[in-house]
Amino acid sequence: MKAKEIRQKYLEFFESKGHSIIQTASLIPENDSSVLFTTAGMHPLVSYLMGEKHPAGNRLVNSQKCVRTGDIEEVGDTTHHTFFEMLGNWSLGDPEAPDGIGAGYFKKESLEWSWEFLTSPKWLDLDLQRFAVSVFAGDKDASFDEESYQIWLDLGISKKKIAKLPKSANWWGPIGETGPCGPDSEIFYWVGDIDKIPESFNDDNDLWVEIWNNVFMEYNKSKVEKKGKYEYIKLAQKNVDTGMGLERITSVMQGLDDDYQTELWQNQISKIEELSGKKYLENNPKPMVTNSSKMNGQVGQKKEMRIIADHMKTATFIMADERGLTPTNTDQGYIIRRLIRRAIRYGKQLGIGKELWTKEIAEIVINDYKDIYPELEKNQDFIFEQLDKEEIQFSKTLEKGLRELEKGTDPFLLFTTYGFPIEMTQELAKEKGIKVNTKDFEKKMKKHQELSRTASVGKFKGGLVDNSEQTIKLHTTAHLLLSALRKVLGEGVQQKGSNITPERLRFDFSYDKKMTDEEKAEVENLVNKAIKKDMSVICEEISLDEAKKAGAVGAFESKYGERVKVYKIADGDGIFSYEICGGPHINRTGELGKFKITKEQSSSAGVRRIKAIIE
Ligand SMILES: [Zn+2]
Repeated sequence: MKAKEIRQKYLEFFESKGHSIIQTASLIPENDSSVLFTTAGMHPLVSYLMGEKHPAGNRLVNSQKCVRTGDIEEVGDTTHHTFFEMLGNWSLGDPEAPDGIGAGYFKKESLEWSWEFLTSPKWLDLDLQRFAVSVFAGDKDASFDEESYQIWLDLGISKKKIAKLPKSANWWGPIGETGPCGPDSEIFYWVGDIDKIPESFNDDNDLWVEIWNNVFMEYNKSKVEKKGKYEYIKLAQKNVDTGMGLERITSVMQGLDDDYQTELWQNQISKIEELSGKKYLENNPKPMVTNSSKMNGQVGQKKEMRIIADHMKTATFIMADERGLTPTNTDQGYIIRRLIRRAIRYGKQLGIGKELWTKEIAEIVINDYKDIYPELEKNQDFIFEQLDKEEIQFSKTLEKGLRELEKGTDPFLLFTTYGFPIEMTQELAKEKGIKVNTKDFEKKMKKHQELSRTASVGKFKGGLVDNSEQTIKLHTTAHLLLSALRKVLGEGVQQKGSNITPERLRFDFSYDKKMTDEEKAEVENLVNKAIKKDMSVICEEISLDEAKKAGAVGAFESKYGERVKVYKIADGDGIFSYEICGGPHINRTGELGKFKITKEQSSSAGVRRIKAIIE
């Protein structure tokens, strides 16, 4: 079965169980300063898991595009991907309410439906004998998940195939320091020989592949006043959050032990074969050094081709996002740059001699996915242009680095300053007859990796979505700001992104000139007037068409599917702001303090950035 059909069946199955299909959210989290990318299907839904009402109801299903860049260096084996699609279904609270369309559900329905979808001949029809599951064993914070254990027994799984595992294995979240979390139950599938299935299940054999995780979010991990201590408190509403990686289930359905051999990658791999003149499935006579056990013993060009395919797919998807992100030296832009440059480097190692070739891979990605993600085709020219630019710039950097190498510069410095990998340094050095001290390099490299790991952990600090009073206030302020900007600078102004911390609001918008002092003062004045008038903030739930017709603005308007929330900020004199948004917001603008723009600067081509506070 092809990925396209699996995706479609999944949505259909849960629709038949009363779920609303919601659109994939942007890859770039909105109003979230703690992470760079959407990392899971539940990520854009956090405020709903915390109790906000979702306009599409209590049962949701979608296929969410995700990016995880925490283990870029791991890519190259059969299962690591920086971009992937996550199939997920959710129940938002209310499991005790009478069953029927719209009511929530909990463990019983969630596990039974997962089982039905995986094993029913009508759906995926997977082999019953090959399954095993795990449940949370219990500890001092929360008790053994006996309910899930019993449900699995009732579904016919034998005791020996149900592992009871600790929090490290069977507990999900919070992504940040605090937030919703709970025990989970994972479903595994044996991908080895049928006559070699172990009698009892433990999750330490690589041939047991985890295919689906059912998370029961019934706790909120919160900080106790005393520093460093946490407690787990039952949430007012119970939620279900499940996630199944499309790439993984596709290779399982096709009986493959290598995700990259599915059609989700094969067109790209063929193109890389064509460009490099090498074959994916050929054994390399002189395997390159690898650091993963999952290479299947077939190392060499397979690894390089996987890295190129993975990185180019991810870079293409990030740049296709409506935010118009480009390769830079900070935040998401830096990830794009790193991905493209790593792909180019591995392309060189594979022997791709052609210049400006990365766009040919991007074109394949766009063709493969454009039916599901139309933003790819829409932004195709932009993506090609960025890739060409980055390739040219990187090749200049390489030339400079090469001159440094000839001068005898430390190869580690070449790596950190010019992005030279040690393999490339060694190759170049060999060509030029220069000796490289590999041991010294590796020592410095190890230290460098430890430092960058610490830095990326730091990115997650402070919680996934900070729904503090101050950030909610600044979020409402962002609506006022957008409206004021459009009144002063014209209707052409569109929101290009926002990033809110409890201290300040950062707001990106399309506009191609520096704002004058007069314009800034006028915007401040308009926002402060709206605050002074103590306007009410009203939430309406209407269809996307109605919202558009009524003139609602919203940069990411297709996000919540058909029914959307629109926030109206108005008083007796009329509507000041009318914007599609998931919320939450304050009730009256009078709750805000005095608004002040602290900075106005360029963000990228045609995009300005404002930093502002409320005093
Ligand atoms: Zn909003």
